[in-house]
Amino acid sequence: MVFIATERKGSESCPMNALLFVTICFLAGPAGGAGVDLIPQPVSVELGKGFFQIDGGTVITVDSASHEVGALLQRYLADDGEIELALRVDSADSHGDNTIALRVGAQREKVGGYQLDVTPAGIEICAAGREGLFYGCQTLRQLLLQPKAEGGGRSPIGAVPSVAIRDFPRFSWRGLMLDCSRTFQSIDYIKKTIDRMAFYKMNVLHLHLTDDQGWRIEISRYPELTRKGARFPEEWNEPASHQGYYSQKEITALVRYAAERNITIVPEIELPGHCLAALACYPDLSCTGGPFEIFPFFKGPGINEDIYCAGREETFHFLEAVLLEIFELFPSLYIHIGGDEAPKARWIACDRCQERIDREGLEDERALQSYFIKRIEKFVNSKGRLIIGWDEILEGGLAPNAAVMSWRGVGGGIAAARAGQDVVMSPTSHCYFDYTYGRIDTRRAYLFEPIPEELDGDEAKHVLGLQANFWSHIDREPEKVDSQLFPRLLSIAERGWSPREVRDWDAFCRRVKVHGEHLDRMGVRAKPMPIGTWTPRQMSEIYAPLTWDVSAAIGAAGGYCVLFEYTHGAHRLGIEKVALLIDGEIAAIDIHRGVTGARHENNRYSLVVDRHTAGRSYEIRAWVRAEGGVDSSGQVFLFKDG
Ligand SMILES: [Zn+2]
Repeated sequence: MVFIATERKGSESCPMNALLFVTICFLAGPAGGAGVDLIPQPVSVELGKGFFQIDGGTVITVDSASHEVGALLQRYLADDGEIELALRVDSADSHGDNTIALRVGAQREKVGGYQLDVTPAGIEICAAGREGLFYGCQTLRQLLLQPKAEGGGRSPIGAVPSVAIRDFPRFSWRGLMLDCSRTFQSIDYIKKTIDRMAFYKMNVLHLHLTDDQGWRIEISRYPELTRKGARFPEEWNEPASHQGYYSQKEITALVRYAAERNITIVPEIELPGHCLAALACYPDLSCTGGPFEIFPFFKGPGINEDIYCAGREETFHFLEAVLLEIFELFPSLYIHIGGDEAPKARWIACDRCQERIDREGLEDERALQSYFIKRIEKFVNSKGRLIIGWDEILEGGLAPNAAVMSWRGVGGGIAAARAGQDVVMSPTSHCYFDYTYGRIDTRRAYLFEPIPEELDGDEAKHVLGLQANFWSHIDREPEKVDSQLFPRLLSIAERGWSPREVRDWDAFCRRVKVHGEHLDRMGVRAKPMPIGTWTPRQMSEIYAPLTWDVSAAIGAAGGYCVLFEYTHGAHRLGIEKVALLIDGEIAAIDIHRGVTGARHENNRYSLVVDRHTAGRSYEIRAWVRAEGGVDSSGQVFLFKDG
C-alpha cells in the first residue's frame, strides 16, 4: 500500500460532486430526535425513522472486493459488542433483508469516501474502494453506541439508528507522530494507538525511530545500531521498558497491521542531527571521531552538538544502506528524514566539512545542510520515494521534491506551499501534545485551521493535512501518553477529516462526552474536558463567585471532585470555597483554602450529590480571587470520585 500524496481526483459521475456546498443535516430523529454523535463529523448526515436491529440472523454480505473488510468488520463487532455474525459472499444485488452489505464500486467519490445507509430492513455500505469501506465500517461501529432516542441510556445492543451518511475526508494526511526514540514504545502500545487512530479515521502514523537517545530499528547491515544504540549505559538506571528496539520481523507485522486499518506508517530516520545513538555505535561517521555514549534526554544538555559529518563519504554510504533497508520494510511513499535542530559547531570546526563546502562552492554550513538533504533526497527519489522533513529543511534552499512538516509555526508551511511543495501542518502552537493542556487545550487544537489565510486556492492544494506530534521525554508511561493524546487527538481527527465549516466547539464537546465511553472501552484514560475556565476579565483581588453549569456533566448521584488548574498569567488563583447548586440552591459545599499557580495547594474540592434528578439544573460555584493582580487564567475540571 502506498500513501496517496496528491489531491484525490473525483469523477463526473460522482454524486458527491453534486454537493455544491456541505450539508450537515440533523433532521428530526426517531421519537424525540437524538442526533448521532460521530467523530469526525461526516460531510452529510440525514437521520431517518426507527432502527435496524442486529440479531443472531443478521449476515454480513460481501463480494470478492469487500471480503477482507467484511471479515474485519465481523471481528470488530465481536470485539466491540460480542455480536457474532456470519459472513456470506453474495453477488452484488442479491443481498436481502437483515444484512449488512459491503459493496465496492458503486461510488466514485474521493479516496476514503463512502455511503452508509441504515434502514429498519438492513445496512448498506458502498465505496469506491477498500479505504472507503473501512471508514464506513468505523462509522457503523460508532453508530452502534448511540444514545437512545427517548431519555438517557444507550440503545439496545445491536440497534443502529436509521440514517443516510455521505462522507469523505478533507485531507489525505491525518497524522500522529509518536516518538519511540526518547522513550521506547512497545509494539503492543503502538498497535493500540493504531486501533484508536483507525476508529477516528486517522491515516498516518509517523514513528520517530532514531534520535540522540536511541536507535530503535534493526538494520541488518549495521547490527551495532541496536546492540549498543538501543540501550542506555547501565549507570543511568533507566527502566527496561523505556529502552529496546523493533526487529525487522516485528516491523513487517506492524506495517501490515496498520495497513489493514488504512494507516500508513511513515518512518523517520533523523539526519544530519539528532543522531548520537548512531554515532555512539559508529563514531567514524562523526566529525571528531568520538567516542560517544547515549544518555536520557532529561539528564543531558539538550540537543547534542555531534552530528553526522557532511564531509565524509562514509556518512552517505551508511545512510543509503540504512535507507535501503527502510524502503524494504516500509511501503510508505514518504520517508521522514528529520532535518531539524542540527547545530553547526562541529561542521565549522571540521576540516572535511570545510573541504566539502569549498569543493561544492557552498556559501556556509547552512548551505552544507541543504547539500546534505538534497543528496539524500536524490537517493530517496531514485528509489521511487519522497522525503518529508521538519521545516528546517527549507534553510539554505529546499530540496526539489521534498515535503515540509511545518512545526515552528505555520510559516515554513506557507513558504513551502507558495514554492509549490507539499506540506503537513503540525505547529507547536496547536499540535504538540507533549505540551500541557494549559498550553494547548482541546479547544485550541480543535479550532486550528490547517490552511492559513495567506494561501490562495492553488497554493492551498499543497497542504496535505495536519499532524499531532508527541515527544516522549516528559510523559513516558503509556497511561500518561494516552491522557496527553486524548481527547486532543479527536480534535486533530475531526480537523483532518471534516469539512472546514464544521467548527462548532460546543457541539464537538457534546460529542466528545459521548465518546468518553468509546475511549473507556478502548482502555484510554482520557483527560477530562474542562467544565469551565477563568480569565483576567472575570478576576478581582477580593473573593467573588464564579459559576459554571454542569447539568450535562452530572448524570448520577455520588461523589464528585472539582479541580482548579492555572494555565497562564502572572498571578495565581486563590479559592475560598466551592459549592454545588441544584436549581440555584446550595446542595453541597467544601470550604477550605486552595491555590493554583506555578504550584498547586489543596486545589481539589469534594462534593456529594445525594440524589440525581434528570431535568434539574446543576451548577458549580466557586468563590475565588486572583492574588497580587488579576492576570490569571485557568481551567476547571469535574471528575466523578472513585
Ligand atoms: Zn565533518
